[in-house]
Amino acid sequence: MKRVVSVGGVRLGEGRIKVQSMTTEKTSGVEKCVAQILRLEEAGCDLVRVAVLDEEDARALSLVKERVHIPVIADIHFSARLAELAVEAGADKLRINPGNLRASDLRRVADCVRRHHIPVRVGANLGSLERGAEARYGRGAEALVASALEEAAALEKLGVEDLVLSVKASSVPVTAEAYALLAEKTEHPLHVGVTEAGGGLMGIVKGSVGIGALLLRGIGDTVRVSLSEDPVLEVTAAHAILRACGLEREFAEVISCPTCGRCEYDCMGLARRVQERVIGVKKPLKIAVMGCVVNGPGEAKDADLGIAGGREFCLIFERGKEPQRVPSEGAEAAFFAWLEEWIG
Ligand code: SF4
Repeated sequence: MKRVVSVGGVRLGEGRIKVQSMTTEKTSGVEKCVAQILRLEEAGCDLVRVAVLDEEDARALSLVKERVHIPVIADIHFSARLAELAVEAGADKLRINPGNLRASDLRRVADCVRRHHIPVRVGANLGSLERGAEARYGRGAEALVASALEEAAALEKLGVEDLVLSVKASSVPVTAEAYALLAEKTEHPLHVGVTEAGGGLMGIVKGSVGIGALLLRGIGDTVRVSLSEDPVLEVTAAHAILRACGLEREFAEVISCPTCGRCEYDCMGLARRVQERVIGVKKPLKIAVMGCVVNGPGEAKDADLGIAGGREFCLIFERGKEPQRVPSEGAEAAFFAWLEEWIG
């Protein structure tokens, strides 16, 4: 049976799939770090990870924690001392990497998290495999899984039961294969993502294909879309993936047509502006922006609210009501006023 792990009260392994991201600001630069986390919260981030590179970062964690509202995960490499300081400063979870801590350091980390009752993510990456696993399996999905499971077993032996596992690679097929293998072998919740996916369109595509393929098989309890971009985009993309997989209905969703020769107004621009307005809006709404009054309202029948544009007039329609005809000039302002009422 699947285990449930609580990260500062956010439960992984039950209920909806949680979205997480990681700050790009230095943790010790408290002002900027807090500002970034608050923007992530607004976009719908459930958990945030921060890098702890030195003692200054570790100590700053308590100041960050005081001013944010979501659990904060400390990302630690190589140092048991930093892990202890981060936990003492209030980290809600640790993320460690197999192979980056010596056995004696792992024991120190285990003692610390047990005392403070916080979970650990064992995050295996193809770039830093546990040496034994790499020697036995080479550099692929099996080595990732062995790496994560061996580190998890070592922590379990030391009395740490609340674990979350991840096995990421920058290759989508390797990532998907590794998680599928891992899901068969563990009951711990899984943090799913494709690492070093890049930025822009390709980064989003890689993250979406990898994470989406796993979610559709029922694999994954929390997701991070790693992008070389503003982390807010990671959160927006994660919610979009969850919605596309039919796993999340609580956030507003914008649908829009691809437009064609029938379109006689700036449908794409309006769709973008509407999308920007509803990012992070926590209401189960479907909003349609359609290219023409001829086919738009019919093609967007299941929307709660929509607009279909035309050269002289637009139709604004609400579920179950007669569409309203409004002059094209001023139609966007009228639609936004309508939208504000819906999203409250
Ligand atoms: S709604 Fe109108 S503009 Fe959009 S794709 Fe369909 S026919 Fe073309």
